[in-house]
Amino acid sequence: CVCVCVCMCLSFKILMNTKLETSDLKWTVYPRNKPEWEEMSGLDEENNSVRTYQFCPTDSSGSHWLRSTLIERRGASQVYVELRFTMMECSSLPTQHRTCKETFNLFYYQADTDEATATYPPWMENPYVKVDTVAADFLLRKGGERKFNVKILRLGTLNKRGFYLAFQAQGACMALLSVRVFFKKCPALTRALSSFPETVPRSLVQEAQGECVANAAQPGQRTQPPPRMFCGEDGQWVGQPSTACACLPGYEPADNNVRCRECPSGQFKSGEGSGLCSPCPAHSQAVSAGTSSCLCHPGYYRAESDAPTTACTTPPSAPRSIVTQINDTSVTLEWSEPLDNGGRRDLSYGVQCQRCGVPGGRCTSCGDRVSYRPAQHGLTTRRVVVWGLLPHTTYIFLVQALNGVSQLSGREPSSESVNITTSRDVPVLVSGIMSDRATESSLTLRWPVPKQSHYTILHYQLRYCEKEDAWHYKESDSAQVVLTDLRRSTQYEVQVRARTMAGYGNFSPAMSFHTLPNDDGSHSQLLVTGVLVAMGLLLLITVIVIAIFCIRKHSRMKDPELSDKNGQYLMGQGIKVYIDPFTYEDPNEAVREFAKEIDVSFVKIEEVIGAGEFGEVCRGRLKVPGKKENYVAIKTLKGGYTEKQRRDFLSEASIMGQFQHPNIIHLEGIITASCPVMIITEYMENGALDSFLRQNDGQFTPIQLVGMLRGIASGMKYLSEMSYVHRDLAARNILVNSNLVCKVSDFGLSRFLQENSSDPTYTSSLGGKIPIRWTAPEAIAFRKFTSASDVWSYGIVMWEVMSFGERPYWDMSNQDVINAIEQDYRLPPPPDCPTFLHQLMLDCWQKDRAARPRFAAIVSALDKLIRNPASLKIVAQDGAGPSHPLLDQRGPPPLSACNSVGEWLRAIKMERYEEGFLQAGFTSFQMLSQISTEDLLRIGVTLAGHQKKILSSLQVIRVHNGSPGTMRF
Ligand code: AMP
Repeated sequence: CVCVCVCMCLSFKILMNTKLETSDLKWTVYPRNKPEWEEMSGLDEENNSVRTYQFCPTDSSGSHWLRSTLIERRGASQVYVELRFTMMECSSLPTQHRTCKETFNLFYYQADTDEATATYPPWMENPYVKVDTVAADFLLRKGGERKFNVKILRLGTLNKRGFYLAFQAQGACMALLSVRVFFKKCPALTRALSSFPETVPRSLVQEAQGECVANAAQPGQRTQPPPRMFCGEDGQWVGQPSTACACLPGYEPADNNVRCRECPSGQFKSGEGSGLCSPCPAHSQAVSAGTSSCLCHPGYYRAESDAPTTACTTPPSAPRSIVTQINDTSVTLEWSEPLDNGGRRDLSYGVQCQRCGVPGGRCTSCGDRVSYRPAQHGLTTRRVVVWGLLPHTTYIFLVQALNGVSQLSGREPSSESVNITTSRDVPVLVSGIMSDRATESSLTLRWPVPKQSHYTILHYQLRYCEKEDAWHYKESDSAQVVLTDLRRSTQYEVQVRARTMAGYGNFSPAMSFHTLPNDDGSHSQLLVTGVLVAMGLLLLITVIVIAIFCIRKHSRMKDPELSDKNGQYLMGQGIKVYIDPFTYEDPNEAVREFAKEIDVSFVKIEEVIGAGEFGEVCRGRLKVPGKKENYVAIKTLKGGYTEKQRRDFLSEASIMGQFQHPNIIHLEGIITASCPVMIITEYMENGALDSFLRQNDGQFTPIQLVGMLRGIASGMKYLSEMSYVHRDLAARNILVNSNLVCKVSDFGLSRFLQENSSDPTYTSSLGGKIPIRWTAPEAIAFRKFTSASDVWSYGIVMWEVMSFGERPYWDMSNQDVINAIEQDYRLPPPPDCPTFLHQLMLDCWQKDRAARPRFAAIVSALDKLIRNPASLKIVAQDGAGPSHPLLDQRGPPPLSACNSVGEWLRAIKMERYEEGFLQAGFTSFQMLSQISTEDLLRIGVTLAGHQKKILSSLQVIRVHNGSPGTMRF
């Protein structure tokens, strides 16, 4: 993933430069009683007088420090120190300097005020932070070259107002010629049509807000945030602007995308964007520069729907050569295309009709007395039939040609006209068809010639069909016809009509005629063959139906809940089934199939909300153009990952992307085209269920808790129907939104596979890691993970919910938990837990996995409970229920064992009120036995759940001990 681009131009801000100091530096020296660092004037390489510090020890003992005055950091988080110094080789010193080293140490100390004194901070590493041990590249020796050393060192992340530099000599004789402290800034920058101001990197990467250059804007400006870029701590701009700016219409990008220049005259650019100006299209012109659309030449037009890039056009010329065909009281008009279509393709035609009373007389519009097929206006074919004409009447038909700019021209459309006169005569009627001869495949038919008044009959048209089949037509010049290629022994309906100059008359009434049957007996053979074939087919269909029935029954009997998570997917019966991304040859293919790629510019990260397996989890906003902005959770993959880690990280998205359910966390999409790689999901305001319940201990009613459990069960029912086995169902993997809706999350497989994961919840077992307390015994023992083992985990989640986030099996070790379960011990009901719910938990924890309820049954049991909340009131009495050690264990130790009020409060997890109890004088059990709700309110126990917990614990003490005096404290 290559996403870093570096700008080579840097700018600096000097924080301190001893070369520019004109007076004494007056830095602090240690030890004060025997200072070895000495301030002196000297000459630099350009012979300017500068202040320097020299160190030439008279003996080699002790530690010798030199500390600068406070240097303000002025907002920078990283600063650089440039040191110029000379150093003499140790061998030039007298022999008693045996500890001489040709180096010195550089330290710094951060402070918000100028707080350093001669004795503070203590002269030692820590509180000072060591930057480096600096070694000389060139050493001065007698008669040798006089070269000085230059070193540039970087100081770590600074966060206080300023800092001191401290130098610790190491025995060698040296001179500190100059000290220059500076930081790097990102210079003002224009890139991708966005300009950014000079920016000081105040953190690892500093976000800088920019703006579009003149005559540029962000597409859809109102909804887009301004462009942003990151300034690195090394003073270099990183990456590309977050959102793109584009030149406005009439402007094009120039000088390598740093400015937008106007289109020269004669050219135009119609839209925003990176495109260049182009010459005006045909028949148009741009008279001024900076034009977004060219004006049409006179007589040319552009329709509203035409793009500014298309040529200007004209209306079409008139249609040509109208041909008419009069049929009775209808006329068919056909015409040819206009010679000139005006340069457009949207040619259409309209027809106007005028009726003229007497030849040569006044003509009026036909109005709605006539009808047009297919239509009068907007014709795209060159043919229309006009119906409803009067006999012996003259009509004028006007055929107009139109296109998309006809209306804009303001002129009448070009048209061509034609006159017609309908016939005076009533059309001829034929009747009385007779059969002259019939064979197996033909019929010879004839009919009487009708009596005519004016016109002769031009020809006859006959139509025939088998019963309810389509008509076949046949023309004949005489009053008889032979129909051939007919089917044997079939009845045909026949009608006939005559055509004269006045058009067609009506068809005669239908008559039926039969072709002859075959008489050689072959048809009976055919019948026998047909019956045999039909029986064979029937038998085949019966066999297929029985086979399908058996296969379905067999697959239904196979328990879908007992299928293995990675044991693959079943298809068929219309049930959508989960597909393991790792069954793809290339798991990236699964990611592409199930997770949508989101453009990074649509996402804005706001704050870190958690730590995931692969990197930080952040809250942010997602704004997809055209959709509402939403809060989202963003899981990131931290840098330096391997290809395998990337694959494992994204596998969660390709699993999550297959699910669509209100109780399963919803995947919005992924970002893989830029760094860092991210998975975007819906945002769940209340975070993980376990911590949410702990924070709200005792504050939800049983019915609210059952509502949460119902949601989780419904999500799990959906997953089990998809044949997906979760393997890590636990309250920590359920997320809660602001409406208390619980959603199953965490579909990553990686932590099961990572042997080196340090999370103690997941214990190594043969071939992977297992969350022991939540896992069914068969899954721990031989990795039999099924929907039935998910049901076991669901029972544990029920227990976590009903105990407001208590740790299952408290502080028992994993091995103790495994042993206890093996000996049929199970968790007892949490305090105030309705008996019904604890019984459901016990059902989920059946050793025989086939005996555990399915998720569908759990959902309907909880639905029933919600409909009948009275059953929630039945709560196991203290000491009731199955009697084995784990069931008797109520989390807190026996109350009689408590030695003090504090210990008792800690035992019932109410230690936050200890001070209040003691201040109010409740220091002994005798006092406590009198306590009332009013007392609790005075102490500050305002939450009803907490009051109940405390009072019921005291009640238990009274019941167990008979009299208050038997308590030990
Ligand atoms: P995960 O890597 O899924 O275990 O996430 C780590 C933590 O990030 C969770 O325990 C939550 O506190 C938080 N988190 C993860 N996803 C979301 C989300 N969709 N909404 C809110 N918080 C989340």
